[in-house]
Amino acid sequence: MDIEHVRSRFIKHFDGTTGAVYVAPGRINLIGEHTDYNGGYVLPGAIDKGIMAEVKPNGTDMVRAYSIDMKDYVEFGLGEADAPRASWARYIFGVCREMIGCGVEVKGFNTAFAGDVPLGAGLSSSAALESVYAYALNDLFGENRLDKLQLARVGQRAEHNYCGVQCGIMDQFASLFGQKGNLVRLDCKTMDYQYMPFQPQGFRLVLLDSTAKHELASSAYNDRRRSCEAVVAAVQKRHPAVEYLRDCSMDMLDEVKADITSDDYRHAQYVIEEVQRVLDVCDALQKGDYETVGQKMYDTHHGMSRLYEASCPELDFLNDVAFDCGVTGSRTMGGGFGGCTLNLVKEELYGTFVGQAREVFAQRFGRQLKVYDVAISDGARRVD
Ligand code: ADP
Ligand code: MG
Repeated sequence: MDIEHVRSRFIKHFDGTTGAVYVAPGRINLIGEHTDYNGGYVLPGAIDKGIMAEVKPNGTDMVRAYSIDMKDYVEFGLGEADAPRASWARYIFGVCREMIGCGVEVKGFNTAFAGDVPLGAGLSSSAALESVYAYALNDLFGENRLDKLQLARVGQRAEHNYCGVQCGIMDQFASLFGQKGNLVRLDCKTMDYQYMPFQPQGFRLVLLDSTAKHELASSAYNDRRRSCEAVVAAVQKRHPAVEYLRDCSMDMLDEVKADITSDDYRHAQYVIEEVQRVLDVCDALQKGDYETVGQKMYDTHHGMSRLYEASCPELDFLNDVAFDCGVTGSRTMGGGFGGCTLNLVKEELYGTFVGQAREVFAQRFGRQLKVYDVAISDGARRVD
């Protein structure tokens, strides 16, 4: 992402002057899948792909926004009734409304923005978009009164209330709290967080996008959530302090085995093991033991595929290719049923692995794989 790219468009589309320039990144999640709504841990990090926005107050009550990538221009007011129709602009409008709701006196501004987070690939381009504007408006109109967690919640609520997506907090959290050389372990029950060192020397992180989108994904997702709730309800009869599956042990699950379905048992087993895997990976990271990190990534993939039943042929295929090539760690990233695998690959294996994956994937599925290299980087910030 190049500041001159954004700045030249900003100058051209507005009055020739310049504003302040901000970036906010997309994210990966190293491990901790389907743990968020079970009160467990996730382990995301900000990536070196994001959204860059130039912003300048314009002395009016109108926002004038230019999307460089969409080549689309939209103007909107700041009242609740002024919601724009273009979906990209609704993210910006939603952030404005939620910032106003937090007491920030947002006024009109001119803005142009562009990004290099692939859209809808599971790297959270939407959180990058929300976070860059939450960060910018806090700086320009709010004297930076809101802290990063408040900004993350602004982005999350914007997405809930103005974009129709009931997302969790992880993506916005990672986009704002991310730090180069670190992942963030977030406890989704308490919102406590801790930075974990991530400096895998001699390794690269690469995502292979299967571009599979399964129609059943959202109903299966709801079904898994129901499974988790059913098991918690059964365990609570014996252990009233249990609030989430995160609070359950395998012993507790075994106590209620006769009271729940075998599907629910397997789904809960996956979650209980996955919560523990995040903690194990954090221990391994603190020792610089990336072989264990990689092994746990495979364990997550197998758990998601065999126990949680949230994989699909494309993802299992890509996971097998990684294993056969000797890749250190590989797993489905995101909710499953489609999307990407995240791979931790030794530098010297990178070319062979990606080449091989492209070739055999195209043979098997008749379409091209998309490949995204990522590096762990800093969170939202001003850059000019
Ligand atoms: P993701 O998994 O990448 O977050 P979403 O569907 O949640 O996918 O969000 C993608 C939406 O975010 C796009 O449809 C668009 O409205 C907006 N968006 C993301 N990146 C850009 C961009 N570079 N330019 C314009 N809009 C963007
Ligand atoms: Mg999104």
